[in-house]
Amino acid sequence: MARRTDIRSLPAPAAGTAQQLLIHRFGPESVIPESPTGRKAYIQASLHADETPGLLVAHHLLRLLQQAETNGEVTGQIALVPYANPLGLAQFFDHTQLGRFEFALSGGNFNRNWPDLAALAGDRVAGQLSDDAGSNVTVIRTAFRNALDEITPQRSLQALRLILAREACDADLVLDLHCDDLALPHLFLIPQHWPQAQDLAAELGVRAVLLAEDSGGGSFDEAFSTPWLRLAERFSGAPIPPACEAATVELRGWMDVNDAQASADALAIFRTLQRRGFIAGQPGALPKLHCEATELTATDSVKAPSAGVVVYGVEPGDRVKIGDLICEIVDPAATDPKRARRAITATTDGLILSIRSHRYVTPGMALAKIVGRTPLPHRSGYLLED
Ligand SMILES: [Zn+2]
Repeated sequence: MARRTDIRSLPAPAAGTAQQLLIHRFGPESVIPESPTGRKAYIQASLHADETPGLLVAHHLLRLLQQAETNGEVTGQIALVPYANPLGLAQFFDHTQLGRFEFALSGGNFNRNWPDLAALAGDRVAGQLSDDAGSNVTVIRTAFRNALDEITPQRSLQALRLILAREACDADLVLDLHCDDLALPHLFLIPQHWPQAQDLAAELGVRAVLLAEDSGGGSFDEAFSTPWLRLAERFSGAPIPPACEAATVELRGWMDVNDAQASADALAIFRTLQRRGFIAGQPGALPKLHCEATELTATDSVKAPSAGVVVYGVEPGDRVKIGDLICEIVDPAATDPKRARRAITATTDGLILSIRSHRYVTPGMALAKIVGRTPLPHRSGYLLED
């Protein structure tokens, strides 16, 4: 089977312009869940369009997948979207790419408010479920596809969301490639997929695995993993497994863009696909896992209480105790230099996962993420960054 690239056009955002998505497909054309080759993996890069590492990882992964296809080694269905957000890729202001929030109309975060598949498809599967978990998976995936197919997009962002959601909704494995600011590599997953995702975490060498069942924002990964949980709750008499293992993969920081790391990350994903049976061949020994998984509610996001210049006392990878200095905020408006500095200290014991690169902050901006082990009382409800 030769690789096929689908070109999907978005509604023109303005007269005389055009935007397109590419979807590279490998392996069997149709998904047959009951067959050994019926599994589907979906991988997309840079939904937050200013998070560049994923674009380069996808470039290297495309090369590996093409070679595997030439060798006849692709046994499952694999879809690779090498750039998931052409809208964001075109957004520049004052020489700076701004790809996290949509400029047009809503101003919303591209990785929030994805369709609620459990709500869209729930009524469709009622009465069709049985005692057979595999059959229920097929029924539910069909309902997801049909529900999305009936939505008519009004504009580019909706069309983009529908195309990507239609590709991911029937996958067994979804990898959404992002990055943080200055950061160590890490994963977001729902708790139901740990420890089964240990192989992915070990291959990628991540330093944190953050577990949350509902972080509150409707992120891309949770849009495909959590509907299975919601449907299992609603139809508690029928076996419904958490059939879509979806992860947000944070590929270090936004400046970590080089061929050595990107090709290693692509190989890590490729080997995970081998371990999961999407590609034949031996992935080699599984690397050592560098972290345990922790609840996302145990990771503190330290926020700036006031405006000023940030002077860090830590860097990603450091371990801190409660009360240790994270940074000082220097108030440039202070008239007495002795009173200009405000110390910001750790509120939990843990690992410094990320800090910010731009060193001037206003109140409420995130200064650091600290991965702790004990859930924090103030970390509930909406857990993601804006
Ligand atoms: Zn992101």
